[in-house]
Amino acid sequence: MLGWSINLFRVFGIQLAVHASFLLLLAYWAYQGWQEGGAVGMAWSVGLIVLFFVCVILHELGHSLTARRYGIRVPRIMLLPIGGMAEFERIPRQPRQELLITMAGPAVNFLLVAVLLPLVWRDYFHGDGVATYSPVGVAVQLVYANLIMGVFNLVPVFPMDGGRIFRALLAMKLPYLRATWWAVMVGRVLAVGFIAWGLYADRVMLAVLFTFILFAGNNEYQAALRREQEEAYWRELARQTVPIAPEKPGEPPLLMHGPN
Ligand SMILES: [Zn+2]
Repeated sequence: MLGWSINLFRVFGIQLAVHASFLLLLAYWAYQGWQEGGAVGMAWSVGLIVLFFVCVILHELGHSLTARRYGIRVPRIMLLPIGGMAEFERIPRQPRQELLITMAGPAVNFLLVAVLLPLVWRDYFHGDGVATYSPVGVAVQLVYANLIMGVFNLVPVFPMDGGRIFRALLAMKLPYLRATWWAVMVGRVLAVGFIAWGLYADRVMLAVLFTFILFAGNNEYQAALRREQEEAYWRELARQTVPIAPEKPGEPPLLMHGPN
């Protein structure tokens, strides 16, 4: 599903790509805008969705540039109709690193709110109202978009940002796999709740989004489980190998490392 994408350009050495389905979203918004306000409405609608996704890119860059500080390569940021996805070469096992990398995304959104809010404050709360098709109108939309993006991503449904933060906090006390299991379980309950509500309240996109997240959480838990089993296998092999290795007094024991 993720193979069908178009490369755009590089930001900070990271390839920016859009999934082909993103073009459908653009077409949909263009059509909606046209129906509401003709050509102006269409330009407004497409312009807004582009700006909205610029904020998504900035959110992903928050994660990516923080990850790079810890030596994690980020080859690509992909834009999907449901949001952005930074592709990390690996997820750090140190809870503190995962915590900081994850928090950097929503932090960018809240920073954007803090920067934009003073620009709209006077007109929006004390003026005669804000004209929809105006620069302040754009800023108002972006304040809302970033507020929603920041808060929504903090919902603790693993592997959304909130779920990752939850896992990292648990991993400070629990073994990594156990922490992941709990984060996935809590996330699953919440995700099912959101899917049910989405279907009930006729918010199909929300239900689709959380179904996607549900599977992604499951996949990541399985990957963590496999890695744990592989490591256990190599540890066991090393344990069995050591006594067989020729031992001379004073020589260090034979050490073996797994693929990681
Ligand atoms: Zn994020």
